[in-house]
Amino acid sequence: MTSQEIMLNILGSQVIQNIEESNEIKYLPIFDNLLENNPSIPALALLRPDGNFIYISNNADISKLPNLLKLEASGASFQHALDNPNKMVLGRTYYFKPIGEWVIPIRKAISTSNGQIKAVLANGFRLKTSSDLFNNGLHMGDYNDIEIIRDFDDYPLHISAENVNQKSRYNKQIPQEIFKQINMALQKVYNTTLDEARHSKDIYTFHLDINGKEVITSIRYDNRYELWTMSHTKHAVITKAIINTVTIYITILITFLLVLFFIFRYIANAEEAKRQELLYQANHDTLTKLPNRNYLINNIHHWIDQKSTPFSVLYIYIDNFKNVNDSFGHHIGDLLMQEIAIRICDFVHKESLVIHMGGDEFIILSREIVHHELNICANQLIAKLSEPYKVEDISFNLSASIGISRYPEDGINLDNILRAADIAMHQSKKQKNTASVFQSEMQDSYLYRVNIEQELKNAIKNQELHMVYQPQLQDGKIIGVEALVRWINPKLGFVGPDSFIPVAESSGMMPPLGEYITNTSLSEIKEVFDATNTEFILSINISLKQFIYREFLSRLVLAIKASGINENQIKLEITENLFIEDFDHIVPLLNKIHDLGMKISLDDFGTGYSSLNILRFLPVDELKIDKSFIDDILTDLSAQKMVRNIIDICTNQNLQVIAEGVETEPQLTMLTDYGCDRFQGYLFAKPMKKDDLIAFIKSSK
Ligand code: C2E
Ligand code: CA
Ligand code: CA
Repeated sequence: MTSQEIMLNILGSQVIQNIEESNEIKYLPIFDNLLENNPSIPALALLRPDGNFIYISNNADISKLPNLLKLEASGASFQHALDNPNKMVLGRTYYFKPIGEWVIPIRKAISTSNGQIKAVLANGFRLKTSSDLFNNGLHMGDYNDIEIIRDFDDYPLHISAENVNQKSRYNKQIPQEIFKQINMALQKVYNTTLDEARHSKDIYTFHLDINGKEVITSIRYDNRYELWTMSHTKHAVITKAIINTVTIYITILITFLLVLFFIFRYIANAEEAKRQELLYQANHDTLTKLPNRNYLINNIHHWIDQKSTPFSVLYIYIDNFKNVNDSFGHHIGDLLMQEIAIRICDFVHKESLVIHMGGDEFIILSREIVHHELNICANQLIAKLSEPYKVEDISFNLSASIGISRYPEDGINLDNILRAADIAMHQSKKQKNTASVFQSEMQDSYLYRVNIEQELKNAIKNQELHMVYQPQLQDGKIIGVEALVRWINPKLGFVGPDSFIPVAESSGMMPPLGEYITNTSLSEIKEVFDATNTEFILSINISLKQFIYREFLSRLVLAIKASGINENQIKLEITENLFIEDFDHIVPLLNKIHDLGMKISLDDFGTGYSSLNILRFLPVDELKIDKSFIDDILTDLSAQKMVRNIIDICTNQNLQVIAEGVETEPQLTMLTDYGCDRFQGYLFAKPMKKDDLIAFIKSSK
C-alpha cells in the first residue's frame, strides 16, 4: 500500500505540475507505463473533484461511467478522499466489470500548493492477483478467517476465508454488534477501549461469540490506512490444538516419568540385591554358609520373647580340630568343616537353628527342653559326628563335646545362656566326646578356673609357688622322694595342683611352670643330699604338654648338669595319656631319656586304658599303683585284683612297683602280702618342704 501511495504521490505531482503549467487536467503517458509495469493494478483513472471521470485506462467510454461521488458504494470513500487530501483512501471492494474481478479501489485527492483540490486519482488492488497481503490463502484453514475492515464505515475490504460468497460479504458492513462485543472484551481483558486500541500498534486477543460460535479473535489497527485487521479462530480448534499439544507433552512426560521410574526401580532393585547380599555375608559363615554369631545376635528376639517360651542351646565343640588344620592344611580342614556342618544340619529338627560360631564351634537352638531328652539327643549327635570322615581319600576320626543350657532358667539374655552352655561344654571337653547339661555348680568351678588362669600367669614371678617332697620308702628306709608343686595365692589361697596343673596345661603355661618345678627340685634336693649326706632318687612329674615342647629334653639335661645331681638319680613320672597324643614322637624321646640314665615311672597305672602290650615297647622302669586302688584295696575285690595283676606284671616284666597313697597299716600288710615292697603315703610321710625333709631324714637315721 505504501508503494501504491508513493506511486500516486508521483502521479499526483505530475498531474498538478501539468495543471499549473497548462491549466488543464489531462491524461499523461506515464499512466500507461505504470499500468504495464504493475499487473496488480487493474486500472488507473483521473476524476474531477465532482466525481466525474476525466480519464480511465483501458479505453472505456467515459460517458457511460458513473459519477463516483454520487454512487452509493463509492460516494462515502470519495468524499473521504476529498476530506483528506494528503491521504491515500481505500474504497469499498467491488466487482469491476471491465476486468471481471473484485478490486479494492484506491483514491487520492490531488491539490495544488495552495490547498485547492484539482482532481482525484483512482486505481485499485486486484484481490486475486495482488500482493501477499490480499492473498486468499492468508487464513490458516476453515477454522480461521482473516478480515481487513475499513474503519470509517466498517465495510470489509478483504476477507480471507473458506467458501465465502464474496458479493454478500463485501456489500455488507460488519455488524455493530460485533464491535460492541469487541469493545466489551477489550474492557474486560485489557482494560482499554476500541478508541484507545486505534492509537496503539498492539495486537489484542480475546474471546468472542459470533453467531453463537465461540471464537478467539485478535485485532490490530493500522492507523495510516485506517484499517482493522481481525483474525477469528474457532475456539474448539484451538482447544483441540492445545489438547493435542498438551496430550503430546503429557505423553512425553509420562513416558519420561515411566522411564525414570523403571531406571530408579532398576537401581533400587540392584541396590536392594546388593544390600541383601552384604546382609547375607555379614550374617553367614563364608565357609559353611550357616548363620553366624552376628545372625544369632540379630535374631535372638525370635527366641527370647515376652512369654519366656523355653528353649535350649547346645554348644558344640569339635575336639582336636585344630590338629587337622595344623597337620593337613586349611584346605582339608575347610572341607572337613563343611562335612561337619552338613552332619549337624541333617541331624537337627526343622524348627531348630544351627549357628556356626566360627572356628570349631557350633550352636544349636532347639525347642527341646527336657533334660533327659536333651542328653539323648546330644549323645546321638556326638555319635554321628564321631563316625569316620573321608576327605580327599584321607580318613578322619573326630569327636565332639557338647554343653547344654536352657532358657530361661540358665540365663535370660543371650550372653548368659551362651556362657552357661560354654561352661557346660568346657565340662564336657575335660572328658571329650561327652555332653553335659549346665548346672549352677559348673558356673562356680568355671569361674574358679577362670580365676586360676588369671592368677597363675604371675605366680612364678610373684614367688607364690614352692616345692614339697614326699618320701618313698623300702624296708623303712628312704629310697626316693616325689616332687610335688604347691601354690599359695593371695587372692585364691591354697590351690591344689589337681586344680591348676590342668589349667596350666590348657592355657600354654606348662612349659615355664615345668621348668620352675624341675629347676627348683633339682637345686633343693641337691641341698638335701649335701645336708644329710644321703642320696636317693628324685621323682619329678612331667606333664604331657612339657613332653611335646621341643626343647624339653635339652633344657632338662642342662638343668640336671647344672644341679650336680647324677642323671641316674632322676626319675620322671609320666601318665598313660602321654601315648594318646603321638606315640611315634614320645617313644623315641623316652628311649633317649632312658639312655641318658634317667628312670621312668608310669604314674596312675591301671586308671587309663593302655594295653599291657605297650609296656613291652616302652623303656619303663617302674609302675606306680594308683592311690584309688589302694583306697579300696581292703573293701573292693576288683581293686584287690587290679593291685595283684599290676604286681604280677611287674614281676613278669622285671619292673619295679610302688604303691602310692598308703594311709593305714592294713593296707600296708595287704600290699606286702601281695609282694609290693615300696611305698609312698601319709602312713610314712606327708609331702614336706626341703628343710622338713632334711629333718625327716636326719631323724630317721
Ligand atoms: P600324683 O602324681 O598321683 O601325686 C600323688 C598325689 O597323691 C599327691 O597329691 C600327693 O600329695 C597325694 N598323696 C600321696 N600320699 C597320699 C596319702 O597317703 N593320702 C592322700 N590322701 N594323698 C596322698 P598332690 O600333690 O595334690 O598332687 C596331685 C596331682 O597333681 C599329682 O598326682 C600330679 O598329677 C599333679 N602334680 C602335683 N605336683 C606336680 C608337679 O610338680 N608336676 C606335675 N606335672 N604334676 C604335678
Ligand atoms: Ca606322681
Ligand atoms: Ca598317682
